[in-house]
Amino acid sequence: MKEDLKNKISIAEQQFQEWRSLSFDQRQSYLPRFAEVLERYKDEFSRLITTEMNKPISESVSEIEKCIKMARYYSEIDNYNAAEKVETEFRISEIRYEPLGIILGVMPWNFPFWQALRFIIPAILAGNVAVMKHASICFGSGKAIESAMEEAGFPAGVFQNLEIGHKEVEELLAHPAVRAVSLTGSEKAGAQVASTAAIHIKKSVLELGGSDAFIVMQDADLRRAAEEGARARLQNCGQACNAGKRFIVQENIAEDFVPMLVEEFKKFQPGDKFKAETLLSGLAKAEFGDDLEAQYRRAVEAGAEILLPLNRVSDIAFEPGLLKVLPDNPVLKEEVFGPLGFILFAENAAEALEIANDVPYGLSASVWTRDEKLSNYFTENLECGMVSINKMSSSDPRLPFGGIKNSGFGTELSHLALREFVHAKTIVGH
Ligand code: NDP
Repeated sequence: MKEDLKNKISIAEQQFQEWRSLSFDQRQSYLPRFAEVLERYKDEFSRLITTEMNKPISESVSEIEKCIKMARYYSEIDNYNAAEKVETEFRISEIRYEPLGIILGVMPWNFPFWQALRFIIPAILAGNVAVMKHASICFGSGKAIESAMEEAGFPAGVFQNLEIGHKEVEELLAHPAVRAVSLTGSEKAGAQVASTAAIHIKKSVLELGGSDAFIVMQDADLRRAAEEGARARLQNCGQACNAGKRFIVQENIAEDFVPMLVEEFKKFQPGDKFKAETLLSGLAKAEFGDDLEAQYRRAVEAGAEILLPLNRVSDIAFEPGLLKVLPDNPVLKEEVFGPLGFILFAENAAEALEIANDVPYGLSASVWTRDEKLSNYFTENLECGMVSINKMSSSDPRLPFGGIKNSGFGTELSHLALREFVHAKTIVGH
């Protein structure tokens, strides 16, 4: 390991001893100031996000606003990790939730502030210190987060941004002071990093890909489902883990719903990423454009019908596409990151459920029906970490977020995230 990195780990190690000894309230007291700093630099940080990974500026602004909400939420949350007394025959018997040490974050480019902060804030509030390897195209965002935390008064070493590559991630996971890792990204990256962590007997939290179902039943508000459906698929230029990637529509409403959805998709035309009115700009990297075109081509070769052609207008920008596919189209088993939607038809709820669950992923799902019995049927039987009823899927600081199956494991956000990087220590005796 290079000297510079060794020094940073040693700063983090020293700070951990100080930071863990503060009370929960003391650690929390930095967060209102941090929210103020985010507010102060909102425009600058939004421009940075858009510059680095190309999403429309309005979405970068929303991302920073969501981070501010999260910082405020955690600044007011009760201490979920307070010691608990347990009635036993012993005079002393209690559980204490102790921080683990240095937690490594490996973060993606699609929400460069949000994904990073939803890892950092609960991890440090629980008494850990954090270091982060951001996606290589978002090192500027990583540095900006570090500066913002410094300006908010967090002691040096509570959070450090590391501009490193994959090899250094491996080295860090071998370092005895680094106790766990949280990764958001592709399945491939998750599998590689979590296996290295496992070799060193360290915990990992993985937030990986998704192929979320957006189920529309015959009694749904079709207009709203079409409007939100287009947003669910196309926001962030289609590059969200919990995007509604597969529309599963009850067959007998196809004639009404499909034209509405196509009309809504057409509203997302590629434009200047810095203009406030732009809804769709470019993908994060040109190679993603090649991958997307290849997935589109393979889907069509496997029998998909083109409802709206995916049209590449530059190395990174596309007019959105929509394909009608059968459940056996192999592309449905992959994560599709870009402005391309798939639509499938189901005769009834049972068939819609079967199609929805027939993917390796299990992140979230959105169900559109006014029938409570039907929505209960879906909420009970959908294999995923989150079900949204009559709304698109979106993360919320107050509610847990995390998937099952190949979408990963572990919980981010809400009070539960405070328990991810602690161990429960038992104290018992006379
Ligand atoms: P990756 O999953 O490869 O990157 C995510 C993060 O992991 C980055 O910081 C990356 O670093 C790091 N990383 C990747 N592999 C390793 C490794 N072996 N060791 C250590 N760190 C690693 O995403 P890509 O940018 O390559 O995107 C490819 C595809 O992944 C997308 O098209 C999409 O399908 C999926 N993806 C899904 C996301 C989601 O939220 N579900 C988020 C991002 C991507 P570096 O940038 O230096 O490679």
